[in-house]
Amino acid sequence: MGTSDQIPLHARPDGQGRLRLQLDSLRPETRRALPVVIPVTVAGAVALVAAVVSLVTGDLGWDEVAGMAVLLAAATLAEAFPVPIEGVAVGSTSLATIFIVSAAVIYGAPAAAVVGFLTMTLVEVGRRRPPSRVMFNCAVYALAGTAAGAAAGVVGSDSLGGLVVGAILAGISFYVVDIGLLALVVSRTRDASPLVSMRKYVVLTAVPFALMASLTVILVVLWDRSPYVAVVLVGPLLVTALYQRWIHRSLERLRQFDRLKDEFIAVVSHELRTPLTSVYGAAMTLGRHELDEERRNALLRIVSTESERLARLLDDILTVSRLDSGRSEVAIAPVEPLELVSDVVDSAREHLPSERSIELSTAPAPPPVAADPDKLRQVLVNLIDNALKYGSEGNVEVRVEPHDDVLRFSVTDAGPGIPYNEQMQIFEKFHRLDPNMTRGKGGTGLGLYICRELVDRMDGRIWVDSEPGVGSTFSFELPVADGT
Ligand code: ADP
Repeated sequence: MGTSDQIPLHARPDGQGRLRLQLDSLRPETRRALPVVIPVTVAGAVALVAAVVSLVTGDLGWDEVAGMAVLLAAATLAEAFPVPIEGVAVGSTSLATIFIVSAAVIYGAPAAAVVGFLTMTLVEVGRRRPPSRVMFNCAVYALAGTAAGAAAGVVGSDSLGGLVVGAILAGISFYVVDIGLLALVVSRTRDASPLVSMRKYVVLTAVPFALMASLTVILVVLWDRSPYVAVVLVGPLLVTALYQRWIHRSLERLRQFDRLKDEFIAVVSHELRTPLTSVYGAAMTLGRHELDEERRNALLRIVSTESERLARLLDDILTVSRLDSGRSEVAIAPVEPLELVSDVVDSAREHLPSERSIELSTAPAPPPVAADPDKLRQVLVNLIDNALKYGSEGNVEVRVEPHDDVLRFSVTDAGPGIPYNEQMQIFEKFHRLDPNMTRGKGGTGLGLYICRELVDRMDGRIWVDSEPGVGSTFSFELPVADGT
């Protein structure tokens, strides 16, 4: 069923099924596989030589050669662009089986062996796989093609019934040899029972196999009428493959999102717990002890800052929920930027440790922007908070400058920076950098998502310029208000 690609040898799965069969390095599992790999490779080579001799010495017409070339091209394309099949954890399944088995029914075992072998050779060499693996995979396809041809030959293809039964038997034979040899090599490398591996692969691939067997029957019957008629199958096959890929990608995105959500719940629980513990501890100390004025004030400060932190966290969660459900409305009006930004910067300075500072530099008289003042404030507060939190030692600079018909706000820190490949992703919901990069600073991954959504809703754009190890500048632009 064309799965020699997907099952262990070049699975692209979740990591568990990944098996690197590199005979060259001769790791213990590779050594264990040799008693299967060597005989299979030799048997494949013998089958191939016999097939080539039979084809060369037989009376092959140009029609047959052209037909085989078309099936080879189709099988190679299908093998090169495998279709991910939902539920098949070992990765993706190639539809090449359909064309190799069809070659077996229409042109016989030697043709199927050669088509199978060449399909795998072209794709595997193109992918620059290690030679040992190329040889094994090619041998499996040559042997599976031969088996398919032999099975079809038993029935004969003179009648419609013969064609149908032949195609089904050929499909089953191909499948059994392909999956059987793979299960055998995997069980050797993993030191597991071949029957258990075989059962697992059959369960995973039975449905795709049934689909491919049906498609093979249709192709063979159409081809028997005229190879030109068989071209009508190209459309449905292509659509099926593309649709399947699309579904798989969507599901992958959902799964990724689900994982992030789980992580988010863990992070939020932790983020809630930390301030709660501080508030609780401070309240208990306040209640139990005779305290001097200074200590009492310090504890009260803890209660108020930690409660603020809790309120901010809950605000973020509520904002996201409103944004996602479309309940967040923006009321755009002309806003004087200087006043608003100075206000935000002043209130950030109030909580600043003495060794840090926030510089504000603005153009002399920046024009009013078309914005929702509360949302604009929220974006600025978020960016300045992040700059202070992640750029824990250096100073922060806030700039406001006009650019054509927009006003650009930017917040620069000398923090750890953001790796280039994550500079887009940090604006996604729940996305956080590796805590090692941000010195374990707490957070939920909601702040920048909220900033992006709010700026978007105010017809602006937001981005980051950052160099890891040097610092980051988060900027956003909003349109200048009409009539200015
Ligand atoms: P939070 O700060 O609550 O985790 P954000 O959405 O505000 O969520 O930020 C997402 C992630 O982007 C943060 O977890 C952090 O890893 C990274 N990040 C944000 N701002 C900065 C910054 N100024 N410097 C370095 N990393 C940052």
